Amino acid sequence: MNRIRFCRNCNTYTLKKTCQKCGFETEINAPQKYSKDETVAYYRRKLKKEELNKS
Ligand SMILES: [Zn+2]
Repeated sequence: MNRIRFCRNCNTYTLKKTCQKCGFETEINAPQKYSKDETVAYYRRKLKKEELNKS
């Protein structure tokens, strides 16, 4: 199961180990200041949708 990761460089959530936008190494621990679970859940749904649409 992939954990959601966070690019500190461009404030983007991703599932990749490196940011697809800037190549910066992402971190597992997303900063909590933006939200609590709400934003993370939103991005998780969004990313899941994008993953499904890839094929
Ligand atoms: Zn980035």
